[in-house]
Amino acid sequence: MFPDRLRKVCVISLDGVPGTLLRAALADGWMPALRALWDEGGEARLRSTLPPLSSVAWASYATGTDAGHHGVYGFVDRVPETMRQRVLSSRDVAVPAWWARLGQAGRPCVVINVPLTWPVQEMRGALVAGFPAPDMARGAHPPELAARLAAAGYLVDPDPRLAGQPVAMLAELRRAVEDKRRVALELLEEPWVVFHLHIMATDRLHHFFFQARTPGNPHHEAFRGLYELIGETIAELVTHLPRHTELLMLSDHGFCDLRWELDLNAFLADEELLYVREQGMGPARVMPESHAYALTPGRIYWMRRGRELGARLTEAEIPALADRVGQSLEGLRTPSGQHAIAEVIAGARAYQGPTASLSPDLVVLPADGVELAAGWDGGALFRPAQRQGGHTLEGAFVWARGRRLRDGAIPDVTATLWARLGMEAPPVFSGKDLVAP
Ligand SMILES: [Zn+2]
Repeated sequence: MFPDRLRKVCVISLDGVPGTLLRAALADGWMPALRALWDEGGEARLRSTLPPLSSVAWASYATGTDAGHHGVYGFVDRVPETMRQRVLSSRDVAVPAWWARLGQAGRPCVVINVPLTWPVQEMRGALVAGFPAPDMARGAHPPELAARLAAAGYLVDPDPRLAGQPVAMLAELRRAVEDKRRVALELLEEPWVVFHLHIMATDRLHHFFFQARTPGNPHHEAFRGLYELIGETIAELVTHLPRHTELLMLSDHGFCDLRWELDLNAFLADEELLYVREQGMGPARVMPESHAYALTPGRIYWMRRGRELGARLTEAEIPALADRVGQSLEGLRTPSGQHAIAEVIAGARAYQGPTASLSPDLVVLPADGVELAAGWDGGALFRPAQRQGGHTLEGAFVWARGRRLRDGAIPDVTATLWARLGMEAPPVFSGKDLVAP
C-alpha cells in the first residue's frame, strides 16, 4: 500500500451534469481525451440533497453531513424572528469543511470554485471561492492570490442578467472555464494532499441552454464547445497530476427539460394561507395572519407562533394543515395536464441534527418539467418556464479512476475521499466509502 503521507486525491466536479448526458456525449465522440480517462474508472449514481440545490449539495460535500447538521437549506434563508431575507455565505456553514480539517492535521489543500466558500476562511493551502462571491478581495486565500486574480479580472461566474443575450452569455461561460483552467494549472504547483476543481459553468449552461444539447439547436455548437473545453481542461489537469493520485469526479444534481414554472407563494395565496403586504423584501412581506410562505426551491414554512415574527399558528393546528397542503400540492396539474409535484416531504422527517430548527417544514419536489418559484408580487400559479433546464434529485454521477463504486448520496463522496486518504472519518460524517471492495 502507498504510504499515507504520500496519498493524494484530485476531485473534479461538474455542477448539474447528469450521468446520462455525460455518457451519451462521450459515446457520441465528444471530449475524446476525457473518454479515454472515463474508461479507466467506474461510475455510480449519486442522489442529490434535499432540496437538490448547489449550495446545499456542496455544503454537504464540504462537511460530509446533511443540511440538518450544516444548516444550509438554500442560497437564501430567512431570519424567522425578523422575517428578513438573507443571502448565505461560508460563515453559515455550521460544520467545518474537510479542507479545514485536513489543514488542522497539517495537510494543505487546493480548493477552486466550490459554491458557498466566500468569504474565504483562514486555511492551509489555497482556496478560490465559488458562487456567490460578491468581491474578489475576500474571494481567495492567500490574500496575494486574491489580489492577483482581482487584477487579472478573474471571472467566478457570468452575470445571470446576460441570459437574455445568448452569444454574450456563452462567451462568458467559456471565459469562466478558461479562468478556472488557468488558476487550476497554476495552483497545481502548490503543495496539496487534496486538489478540488469545481466547474459551475455546466449548471449555467443547462439552465439557459439545455435544449442546445441536441443537434439542430442554434446554440448546439456552443453547447458542445463548452463541454469540449471542459474535457480538455480535465485532461490537461490530469496529465499534470503526480503519479498515484486518486482521481474522483462527480456532479451534484441532475437536470431536466422545463416546461412550466409553478409559484408556491401563488399556490399558498390561492389556498388563503398567505397574505402579502405591498412593502418589504421577500418574507418581510408576509402578513402575520398568514399560515405559510415559501422560499425557492420548494421550501414551505409554517407561520409558527413563537418562531416567525407576529405568527399565530399553533403547533396543534399544524398536522391538519400539513395534510391539507400536501394533498393539494400532490393534486396539482400543470396547464398541459401532467402532475406538477413529485413528492412533498415533511422537514421533520428529512432533517435531524443541531440545525434542523432552521429547516423548511415541507420540502416540495417538482415533477420533471416543472420548476418551483416563490414570487412575492401576486403572479400566476403557473406560467411557461423562464429557463430551459431545472434541477432533479436523481441523475447525478460519481466516478473514480481504477475503482468500482456503489450508488450513493453526496455525503458518501466525502467519506470516500477520506477513505482514499487513509484517514478515519470524523463522527459527524454521515456517509460511507463508495469504493466497492
Ligand atoms: Zn442550478
